[in-house]
Amino acid sequence: MNENKKRVFVLGAGASKHATRNLDIPIPLAREFFQSKYVNSLWNNNHLKNYCFYNTSLNKFIQGFFNVKSKRNFSDKKYFTEINSNINIEEVYSFLEFIEQGDYYFNDEILLVNKAKRELLEFLFSVLENYHHEPFDTTLYKNISNSLTENDTVITYNWDCIIESILKEKLIGKEFINNTHNLLIPPQSNNNTDFGDYAFNNYHKPYFLKLHGSINWYNCKNRSCVRHSIPAVFDIDGDMGDGWTCDYCGSFLNLMIIPPHAHKSYRTNRVFSLQAKVASNKLQNADEIIIIGYSFPDFDFEANSLFRRAIIEYQDLEWYKDSKKIIIVNPEVKNPYYIDKISNLFSLNNNDKKKVLKTFENIDDFNNEYNWK
Ligand SMILES: [Zn+2]
Repeated sequence: MNENKKRVFVLGAGASKHATRNLDIPIPLAREFFQSKYVNSLWNNNHLKNYCFYNTSLNKFIQGFFNVKSKRNFSDKKYFTEINSNINIEEVYSFLEFIEQGDYYFNDEILLVNKAKRELLEFLFSVLENYHHEPFDTTLYKNISNSLTENDTVITYNWDCIIESILKEKLIGKEFINNTHNLLIPPQSNNNTDFGDYAFNNYHKPYFLKLHGSINWYNCKNRSCVRHSIPAVFDIDGDMGDGWTCDYCGSFLNLMIIPPHAHKSYRTNRVFSLQAKVASNKLQNADEIIIIGYSFPDFDFEANSLFRRAIIEYQDLEWYKDSKKIIIVNPEVKNPYYIDKISNLFSLNNNDKKKVLKTFENIDDFNNEYNWK
């Protein structure tokens, strides 16, 4: 029944959180990173007094600019930090980039900012690097993986690799990942003299898109280097990103993730820009858009524009809306403000809402009630 239907699955932080909810330390949401349990168990240098989380520039920075209070909790060979803040790690990252790229710094403050940014990325990586090896709840991802067809697309805003570990188990999932690999690292040339065929096939391929990047993608910090636009991709079952340098120019490789914020956009890098275009096409042509655990942050203008683009061109064509289904899985669907936001993004009036929109308050209900066949 799903054979001919074009579906786009969109995964947000709530999906990763749900999958890891029964682990001792579930994947944190963006507002949960700066809490004792994360900084003490997942910052890798707490056995070294000078490099423990408490003594990082990052900690100094968030204390200074985000009014975060932290206390040292040092004992013999364990240098822990007491911290309980709900500041958004994406906001911290955005602010660091704002200062760094906009030259908004005084004297040697930039040294603190550079170091804090490096530490933030190191922290993000060390928090997220191992979850795909943990015994997380695979129900949702297996359901998705088992029902995938060539007409589907999977989009995630998550930086972790837990869904890849499930996709890799099946042939079709591998195809999704391979196609994405070709977006990241384009084949040298198509051995076909008809670019039309080649482009047509590419357009209709199924893709797995990581719109905000991934903890196993790295690109060269040197903007004129070919590796700046063609990332190095690490195997998620190997050692990822162990401080390697660029194979083309020798510069350091950067973790390739983007925080959603106003002054940096998908356009700044070929990979992010291309992925966003593919996502836009797929969303526009989808019969069914299934959005799981995604909060539609107001400040993520790029993501919001992508969703708006999924419908707006056809605003006057009733038949189009009649054929489109939007499924939202999020506890927030009880909140009228959240539903208003979705209605606004997808241009749905009250009548459309009845026809087009279906909501689930939690992932378990969705797993049980969605027609996976
Ligand atoms: Zn390079």
